[in-house]
Amino acid sequence: MSALAPPTRPTFHRAASTFVDEIATARTDLSRKLLLGDSPSNASPDSESTPSLLSPGSDSSSSPKSLVAGSPITPPEDAEIVANSFAFAFDIDGVLIRGGRVIPEAIQAMKVLNGENEYGIRIPYIFLTNGGGKSEAERCNDLSKQLEVEISPAQFICGHTPMSEMASKHNTVLVVGGEGEKCRHVAQSYGFKDVVTPGDIIKTDSATTPFRKLTPEEHKNSKTRDFSNVAIEAVFVFADSRDWAGDLQIILDLAMSKGGRIGTRSEAFDEGPPIYFSHNDVVWSAAHDHVRLGMGALRGIVEYTFKEVTKGKTLETFAFGKPQIGTFEFATRLLKRWRKNAHKLNAPPETVYFVGDTPESDIRGTNNYNERAENDWYSILVKTGVYQDGTEPAYKPRATVHSVLDAVNHGIEREMKRRLQTSPPMQKPKMPEISKLSLEDGEVRVFSPIEERTLAMWAS
Ligand SMILES: [Mg+2]
Repeated sequence: MSALAPPTRPTFHRAASTFVDEIATARTDLSRKLLLGDSPSNASPDSESTPSLLSPGSDSSSSPKSLVAGSPITPPEDAEIVANSFAFAFDIDGVLIRGGRVIPEAIQAMKVLNGENEYGIRIPYIFLTNGGGKSEAERCNDLSKQLEVEISPAQFICGHTPMSEMASKHNTVLVVGGEGEKCRHVAQSYGFKDVVTPGDIIKTDSATTPFRKLTPEEHKNSKTRDFSNVAIEAVFVFADSRDWAGDLQIILDLAMSKGGRIGTRSEAFDEGPPIYFSHNDVVWSAAHDHVRLGMGALRGIVEYTFKEVTKGKTLETFAFGKPQIGTFEFATRLLKRWRKNAHKLNAPPETVYFVGDTPESDIRGTNNYNERAENDWYSILVKTGVYQDGTEPAYKPRATVHSVLDAVNHGIEREMKRRLQTSPPMQKPKMPEISKLSLEDGEVRVFSPIEERTLAMWAS
């Protein structure tokens, strides 16, 4: 790698004073030319370049591309190089944060994404966590401080974010989980018109939960109301329950009710409102040495207990979050908007590197979505969270690395190798068993894992 210090923004200055520095500078320039789409022996600014990894907006006469190709040398101060053919999506708990504290490598990973890499490029990224319990803006504010970089709600999805698309479908809903009144406020901010909490039900009838007494603050915030004329049309578990027994009782009461009316019982137990969980993670990575129980465990208990108390009836509940395909589709729409608004990129990325710590949600979801997505969703498993090194993951990632910083570097290096493999002057003779090695219709070929392995064997 380059002996030069990582730049904080793209620079092309020739400050090298030693032979070693000159060599390092030449190697960096060669790498940049490949990333920029200019082949080593095809550096004329007038020649037709290979498809660029850069923002189309940077392709002007004063762009870094033309400066690299033609040199010299110094780009305008406001020049920004953005990789347009790939992006990253990150899980948070066990990848960037653990037990409320930042994982040290995460801070450097953000810097690398924001240009402190040997190519001086910025790489678009979003966050996709199953966690929740507070507004996207509040969580992004916390995350910005922890990761030492500004993070926008426009690049962030938490477990309950997709529930916002259901706000117009229901009038009165029960919202479960989280601290205090936070999830009620989040639901109201999504547009839910009439939000009931378990606290409202307990305050109205304290016999609902024999062992759960509201704290003075909960009592003050909760609302008594006449539920005899209220039909709760849906139950949304926004965040992890702080009182599993009480919340379980209330969710089951509604599941067994006539049309969501509190205090009623359906004879057939098939008239209850739909029940949605913001994700289905049975465990998650917190401060403890061993994983802790998550919302998926509560979901399992709800379904199991319903069967027990109804003597065999089945309750079907629904889960958002990873690994649900709908959540990845939501992420695709968010990434599209973010790339367009923040980076002026209009075409979708060819590859999205998804970095997660939980095989059952992160890797499973990414791999499943990759089978139907138009672009390549490439799963990377890290060892800083749920997954334990040395064990066999239930769902196989395309790559396994130690930390999120290693994951970011892996993605960048993989893109670099692909450029080397697909640039015309560097192109080796076609092999009959590897299809479509050349550039096709101006697009860089995305290799399947089998093709990558074959190519690596052939190149070695
Ligand atoms: Mg995680």
